[in-house]
Amino acid sequence: MIKAVTGTKDILPADIPRWKYLEETVERVFKNFNYKEIRTPIFEETAIFARGIGEETDIVGKEMYTFTDRSDTSLTLKPEMTAAVVRAYNEHALGAQQPLVKLFYLSPMFRQERPQAGRFRQFHQFGAEAIGSKSPLLDAEMIQMSYEILKSLELKNLTVKINSLGTPETRENYKKLLKIFLEDKKNKLSEDSRRRFETNILRIFDSKVESDQKIIKDAPKLIDHLDDESKKDFEVVKDQLKKSGIPFVIDSALVRGLDYYTKLTFEIDSGSVGAQTALCGGGRYDLLIETLGGKPTPATGFAAGIERILLACENEKSFSIPEPSIDVYLIRIDNELESFVSELAGKLRKENLSVDFDYLQRSVKAQMREANKMKAKYVFFIGGDEYKAGMMNIKNMSTGEEEKISLESIREFVAKINQR
Ligand code: AMP
Repeated sequence: MIKAVTGTKDILPADIPRWKYLEETVERVFKNFNYKEIRTPIFEETAIFARGIGEETDIVGKEMYTFTDRSDTSLTLKPEMTAAVVRAYNEHALGAQQPLVKLFYLSPMFRQERPQAGRFRQFHQFGAEAIGSKSPLLDAEMIQMSYEILKSLELKNLTVKINSLGTPETRENYKKLLKIFLEDKKNKLSEDSRRRFETNILRIFDSKVESDQKIIKDAPKLIDHLDDESKKDFEVVKDQLKKSGIPFVIDSALVRGLDYYTKLTFEIDSGSVGAQTALCGGGRYDLLIETLGGKPTPATGFAAGIERILLACENEKSFSIPEPSIDVYLIRIDNELESFVSELAGKLRKENLSVDFDYLQRSVKAQMREANKMKAKYVFFIGGDEYKAGMMNIKNMSTGEEEKISLESIREFVAKINQR
């Protein structure tokens, strides 16, 4: 038997109600904040991500699904959405129609990571991007939205972590300080961190190696070397979070994997999902629009992992979904009425009822079992003397009440069901 590719997962019918509930929650919160949905292609030219995310990141360096198509173009399955949204923003000049463009998305993503609990090769994210304003209120809005979604899903064990990376100049100056600090400790760093020392020194903070962690613990902190503007903006974000009752901690090691972040970065972690604790992350990326060929435009956004959030919900038993049911199950008492039953099902479906019946010529008892399994609200019995008299028996499955109605008055009965 051929199985699904490692790191990918089927979302089976039994899982769908939880996904739908999450998607509806996400869409409701985004609508309340006036974000409009955008959908972009599954693949893009590789340059969008290579340039947008940065060559020195794990995503671009080792995780992208990149292939050459028949016309020798290098294409990549999208590993994240921000670069793709910015490509669309630039291409369609969305900023010309509106100075501030607020977008949200729900989409599959692809990264060739080592699969483990909460980490897949095809996974799904929802997220938002607000392009066109420097206001730190929008940075706070990203945290408010993601926090509100997670709270609406009744999650409890959450930690909001925030940090500021400052402006590009601040960061360059800070990198020099960090380099001086690490210079004589360089040989004790892991191989990965030694490489990052040369290529992208800030990313040493992302290292999970314990000996690296020990060394960088005492390094100077970027948050203590911010420029005035970044400092002021950071205060505004903190103030807004306090006013909205969102608890947070400042995590000076939160540099995040991607090159394009400036000023605020944040992450929301869950204590309920094992090793991969981040449910969502984001921040400001004032340089990306220009990097991808647009006019310099400030922007901020976040992305959240759906599988990981659902895992947290499952582990916390945070919300429950009513079992799926149908309105009517038609039970055929006489086998020769098969075609009549099918026709009646068609009529009822046109009245907007969910209806099913037996296609396997099963006994009345087996049909009744099926009706119970499907949690039918009503069962219609068709056949016998009633049918000959132009009638049928109807059973209300929640009260157990039965009534006889004429086949002609079915519309009125349906109207009654629809009202409930
Ligand atoms: P990132 O785009 O790396 O900042 O990721 C944002 C969120 O997407 C993370 O917090 C995770 O919840 C989720 N995520 C990232 N990578 C994966 C993955 N390989 N499998 C499942 N979820 C992921």
